[in-house]
Amino acid sequence: MTYKGQEQPETMKVICDFDGTTAINDVGNLLFRTFADTRCYDIVQSWKDGRINSKQCLQQECSIARVNRSQLQDFADTQKLDPTFSEFVIFCQQLNIEVEIASDGLDYYINRILDNHYLGNKVAAKANALIFEEPDCIRPEFPYFAKGCRQCGNCKGYHVNEAKKTHDKVVYIGDGMSDRCGARAADVVFAKRGRELIDYCKEHDIAHREYDDFSEIMHEFKTLYISQF
Ligand SMILES: [Mg+2]
Ligand SMILES: [Zn+2]
Repeated sequence: MTYKGQEQPETMKVICDFDGTTAINDVGNLLFRTFADTRCYDIVQSWKDGRINSKQCLQQECSIARVNRSQLQDFADTQKLDPTFSEFVIFCQQLNIEVEIASDGLDYYINRILDNHYLGNKVAAKANALIFEEPDCIRPEFPYFAKGCRQCGNCKGYHVNEAKKTHDKVVYIGDGMSDRCGARAADVVFAKRGRELIDYCKEHDIAHREYDDFSEIMHEFKTLYISQF
């Protein structure tokens, strides 16, 4: 792989948010709207207002949800990815660009939905862990919490900084408030049009490109970084 204006090939990694970015819906939010009660709206609002962090938000949401494994499977099986995401992953693979998901949601539905789209073995997902407790309770665990900013359950800034240790350029793709740390740490940011991450980038002078779907990002990759096209 060669890049415009560079003699030496550069290594690049792409880190994507899941809910509302890779997946069309905010699957995490929808999960609690489906299997918890209206208190989930207040919990999310408390997080957005900064009264609780995202770890507490997810703990509180899980505590009021009633769902078992088979119900959650059926729910996840109705969820779709951005229809251009698969093509984007294959395009990146051909160029030796690794694509990874970093999510402050729950691993169970992310892996299920990736598998449903034949991407489970192509895209690693770093997320909070979902534990099922019989008969119909769920509980989150936070394997990355202590490594991050301690406000995010799973801080995307941590994953971007880890990727920077082994790659020359790290691209972050996201849409919402859980992407703030990832956007601050990344070399290149793609923020989805009409969503909160754009406002945050503007307020904090973070250079970013706007997009609607992954076909647009793929097009930008071709024109910006890769001279062979
Ligand atoms: Mg999102
Ligand atoms: Zn963070």
